[in-house]
Amino acid sequence: MARPSSPPASGTTEGTLSEAVVYASRSRRCDLGYLREIYRRADGKLGYRCPGEPVAEYVRKGGRIEATRGRKCICNGLLAAAALGLSRADGPEAAIVTSGNDLRGVAHLLDGGQAGYVAADVIAYLTGQARQERADV
Ligand SMILES: [Zn+2]
Repeated sequence: MARPSSPPASGTTEGTLSEAVVYASRSRRCDLGYLREIYRRADGKLGYRCPGEPVAEYVRKGGRIEATRGRKCICNGLLAAAALGLSRADGPEAAIVTSGNDLRGVAHLLDGGQAGYVAADVIAYLTGQARQERADV
């Protein structure tokens, strides 16, 4: 499957790293490093690693191989989701769809039985304004 060069359409994960075939077609790399973790190297200095980078490199840096399974480079994926993805020799970076580590916000946005939500709903949630309050405006 060819990877799209633009963000996914609203409400779909088609062509994103959420699809196993897209994930499998991407070479593992984390060359932006925005969300790397710090670790102490053997020489005592600080190093950086990301479970989304090549497995051998992550393990060489002392990371556990289990931490790499199914892991994706969030920094490249999020930039692609914002139409700022890098172009690679094998195609453009694929977007990623993620709710992050906190699913409570997603549950809140869907608590009325809605099948989806839009950016305005997220902003209302993040600013503490309930969906009903916004609807009354
Ligand atoms: Zn990354």
